[in-house]
Amino acid sequence: MTGQNPDRPRAGAVKQITSHSNPLVKEIKGLVGMRKHRTQSGLFVAEGLKLATDALDAGWSVRYLALGPDVRDNDRAQQAAARARAKGALILEMPTQILSAITRRDNPQMVVGVYEQKLLAPQDIRPEGTHVWIALDHVRDPGNLGTIIRTADAVGASGVILVGETTDPFAVEAVRATMGSLFHVPLVKMSREDFKSFAGKWPGTVAGTHLKGEEDYREVEYLSPTLLLMGNEQAGLPDDMAETCNELLRIPQLGQADSLNLAVATAVMLFEIQRPRLKL
Ligand code: SAM
Repeated sequence: MTGQNPDRPRAGAVKQITSHSNPLVKEIKGLVGMRKHRTQSGLFVAEGLKLATDALDAGWSVRYLALGPDVRDNDRAQQAAARARAKGALILEMPTQILSAITRRDNPQMVVGVYEQKLLAPQDIRPEGTHVWIALDHVRDPGNLGTIIRTADAVGASGVILVGETTDPFAVEAVRATMGSLFHVPLVKMSREDFKSFAGKWPGTVAGTHLKGEEDYREVEYLSPTLLLMGNEQAGLPDDMAETCNELLRIPQLGQADSLNLAVATAVMLFEIQRPRLKL
């Protein structure tokens, strides 16, 4: 038994958690509440049975699966727990109050997973065929990021590139907004400098969106593969990033709103780029 911490339960085991002060409860709370803890551990939290099933189906590594009392007799939850255990996850059975404290929700999900983060390396992006990649410059809002990942999944985009200082895609609010698409859409991180040289070598259209864009987004030809670049919520795209684009496009608006919400603008663009391929 050398090298094993006797206080730490074995992977693949089932453990009953009864106290808020259990170190595992503190660890999971830290992952929910602090980016620093997520970054240091490389772990993150995703709530819900659907997300647990998505994660397992897509081959993500599960470290812990916390189960509340309401799913003790739920076949799908027990199947997910069995699959997670078989992959070495520790199953934590706990009362609703502790799940509630972990997830900071009055009505917590009865299945809460802790997973290993996964990013694609920039050199593993292979732009080809009709691929569409989305690049988000300095995206700040986790809800926007999660919604964009979900939309990217819905339109069959190949992945999302997070450029510069962005919100954490593994924050619980971002993960929630993806509705499970986080487990299906590759994510890449890049600095602005790296993005500029990456975009310079892109074989198809690099389409930027800008409130000062002079082209109507419905009137350009998107050459495949397409790279769509979106600006930050407050500042939009800075000039040096806008210069990396072949096209600077605007979505025409009526009414008094200055601009569209970032996730909405991204969705409008993606549905236009993918229009020839989207069929009922
Ligand atoms: N004040 C910012 C500006 O001046 O750009 C507004 C940014 S907007 C909330 C966030 C991003 O959504 C923009 O950088 C752009 O990528 C996209 N966007 C929003 N509305 C748009 C529109 N009507 N046309 C083109 N892009 C738009």
